[in-house]
Amino acid sequence: MNVEKTSGYYLAWLSIPAITLVMAIFSFYWASVGLTTPGAEDYGNRLFWIASIVLIMGIAYFSWIWLRGLNVENSAKEIFETCPFCGSPNTKLIISTGKETVECLNCGAKWTIDYSLFGKIESITLIAPDREGERKNVLGIKKPVEFWINLKNENLPTKSPVQKSTDVSDEDIEAKLRKLKKLYDDGLLTEEEYQMKKKELLKML
Ligand SMILES: [Zn+2]
Repeated sequence: MNVEKTSGYYLAWLSIPAITLVMAIFSFYWASVGLTTPGAEDYGNRLFWIASIVLIMGIAYFSWIWLRGLNVENSAKEIFETCPFCGSPNTKLIISTGKETVECLNCGAKWTIDYSLFGKIESITLIAPDREGERKNVLGIKKPVEFWINLKNENLPTKSPVQKSTDVSDEDIEAKLRKLKKLYDDGLLTEEEYQMKKKELLKML
């Protein structure tokens, strides 16, 4: 399995800790100024505590994003190490902010998981070669693998088969149009049916 992280993921990973770090450095600086300025010790003391809280929050956020990313990566690997549809190990995991996509590079099966702010699954969308399904409000599922197994066992709606565009020669279409006209003239088709089918055939020209 290939793992790919989007630039948005890295941005989220770095932006808030970077901001909190800058804020903390500033606060610590002004705290030190306050603490060494006679009469401003109270102010310096308060800033020192604010700086500490900001720094701790930044570190907590950083760790949370990191752990969450690890957890998501592992659960996706567990489920999609090999494609459940074709068995191919040629799969790709794309991690972005609050959303992960796994794609089978062999058969095209694809599924996305949307996560809430706190890392819980909000919805899963599966696009298999022949089936598609979506489940929302699946909060509380600890591991996507449970959901995946349920989804696999369910009878998901089958996709309507894609109409194959066959190579039809213009002569064939012309013959069909003549036949259609005859059917209409003979009263076997209503005006509406005739126009609809005619339009379809003309599109193929
Ligand atoms: Zn596959």
